[in-house]
Amino acid sequence: MSVMVELNNITKKYGTITALNDVSLKIPRGEVFTLMGPNGSGKTTFLKILACIEKPTKGEVYLDGELVGDRNVPKLRLKSTMVFQKTVLFNTTVSNNIAYGLKLRGFSKRAINERVGNVLKLVKLEGYEKRAAKKLSGGEQQRVSLARALALRTELLLLDEPTANLDQRNTSIIEAAISQIRQETNTTIVLATHNIFQVKILSEKVALVNNGKIIHAGKTHKILNDSKKLADFARIENIFSGVSHITKDGTSIIDVEDNTKIEAAIRRSGKISVFIRPEDIILSKTQLESSARNVFEGKIVEILDLGPTVKLRIDAGKQFVVQITKRSFIEMQLSLSSKIFVAFKASSVQTID
Ligand code: ADP
Ligand code: MG
Repeated sequence: MSVMVELNNITKKYGTITALNDVSLKIPRGEVFTLMGPNGSGKTTFLKILACIEKPTKGEVYLDGELVGDRNVPKLRLKSTMVFQKTVLFNTTVSNNIAYGLKLRGFSKRAINERVGNVLKLVKLEGYEKRAAKKLSGGEQQRVSLARALALRTELLLLDEPTANLDQRNTSIIEAAISQIRQETNTTIVLATHNIFQVKILSEKVALVNNGKIIHAGKTHKILNDSKKLADFARIENIFSGVSHITKDGTSIIDVEDNTKIEAAIRRSGKISVFIRPEDIILSKTQLESSARNVFEGKIVEILDLGPTVKLRIDAGKQFVVQITKRSFIEMQLSLSSKIFVAFKASSVQTID
């Protein structure tokens, strides 16, 4: 099998910040490879280096067997397409947005129309050709942005947290489109995410990254079944950002949007990021009388069996990832779409910085 991406001892510094620290890795052609790690771990930097948008401070990158140097960057840039976390669409129709890159590459009108139709079908936006792209919802815009990248059919597709902040419906559509590309083409896909479910459904290999280093890399099923390896990453779930206000009681209320306010046993005001460990969240089928300050009603949208424990994703306006023992999972008779209450203490809410 030929190697699509090879990194040898890549270090990337921004001034005094080391975004990537001596990373080496090979990705075979046709593989879906995920990078999982918390904010600031270096995922975006990694993708930008593969896209030839950023130049490493040290080390070598090979794309499709060719060493990336100053001269061949313009050519090698055409090998990949990167979908950024924050979508910026042009202020024109959906179809013009998708056609733009194809026009630059000299495709005929007929070929362009065919590809536009094709990719819109993939992201379930058939009939949206003439709609104003900027007027679509955030999720739909993200789907157009994915469609625009897919239309180019580059050998390497770089996806930077394509479903971050999206609701369940948009997330599922994007995941299904990625699955379909994976099955029907030989595209190499590198996907950055902090969603463990996505890693499980979409990728054959995963690298766990932290502080610019690959901590573990290997076959997805092996890494996900190794709870010791995953334990290093307990922090990556349930990260919320918002604006915090100190209450009379000396705690803080953080408005994380989507009608969700989280109470934390800290005194902080202004912008803040917090996380709650999946094992610190309590589930119940009825609204418990408990001392937990944070109680939200939702439903189970995903179930991931990890052997002795089960991870659940719960949509309660915001999405929460909860980890419980297999035994409680069975005793509570939980299943997909079950209505459920999530509860956690103000003292379980921890700041990231
Ligand atoms: P991730 O995508 O995993 O959140 P990034 O690759 O965006 O991580 O960032 C890795 C580190 O590099 C962070 O500490 C971030 O602040 C820093 N960084 C990223 N881009 C720049 C930049 N253009 N200038 C300075 N620092 C940057
Ligand atoms: Mg990023």
